[in-house]
Amino acid sequence: MSTVPWSVRDRRLLTLRVGAGAAVVLAAWFLAAGEADLADQLPFVTLAVIGALLGMWGIFGWVTQGRRLVGQRARFLLGAAPVTNVDLASAETLVAGGTRHWFHRADCRLAASRGWPAASRSAHEAAGRRACPACKP
Ligand SMILES: [Zn+2]
Repeated sequence: MSTVPWSVRDRRLLTLRVGAGAAVVLAAWFLAAGEADLADQLPFVTLAVIGALLGMWGIFGWVTQGRRLVGQRARFLLGAAPVTNVDLASAETLVAGGTRHWFHRADCRLAASRGWPAASRSAHEAAGRRACPACKP
């Protein structure tokens, strides 16, 4: 595993994309500079916007690649987080609101901080509730 987030290839790709975008913007600027009428400059403005987008695409790809590699490094160094007993307990607890159609794991984002009472699966099913399709209890 390398010690830097971006490889030489990534840096070359960034330089190529940003350089190409800058070249397009500069070309559009030089071409538009010779046109006195604003309507005649409009195609070159469009060309400059395309060049700017090309440069931003290069930067976005570079940052995205770096974030992905930093994430890989973090997972490699830190490993997976251990599952605690508290996580297991809250995941196994099933909650639902009184008039709701779904029952959820206590740690489901749809049920978090609602203060819904816990009950067994059979109690929820007897009340006509079905398992939440998001947390799939
Ligand atoms: Zn849920």
